[in-house]
Amino acid sequence: MAALPRGAPLCPSSTCAEGHLLIGVVGSGGLIQLLPDALPVDAGFVDTAHKGRAPEKRFRFASPCQAAGCAQWTGQRCGVIDSVLAVVPLQAEAELPGCSIRGRCRWFAQSGAGACQGCAYVVTDLGTTAAHPALI
Ligand code: SF4
Repeated sequence: MAALPRGAPLCPSSTCAEGHLLIGVVGSGGLIQLLPDALPVDAGFVDTAHKGRAPEKRFRFASPCQAAGCAQWTGQRCGVIDSVLAVVPLQAEAELPGCSIRGRCRWFAQSGAGACQGCAYVVTDLGTTAAHPALI
């Protein structure tokens, strides 16, 4: 697993856009399967991915967190993972899943290992996700 360069906190539930990172795939059971390494999203991927259902419903993408620029920001934190953790029962002994962006993940910075247990249940809600600039 390649480490990401240091940088701004990343939203792990971003949009499919050039310059973002592909970090996971929605599995057949609806749970997210994280990729061992984040893959840069290029224009060709964006074109192809938009030919089917909304790519954000089939994949998970990461890009710089927009904080107060996003409808999910509650003033000090991202409300998405707080909402998820309110309904997902946490297991004290659960192992962290392999994740390519943990060192810069907004949700992990907020909620630690619990965020990674709830993360698998999140399919991006396009209605409330901010327009995110490219990572690179
Ligand atoms: S919440 Fe955990 S598993 Fe999900 S993207 Fe962040 S670090 Fe990775």
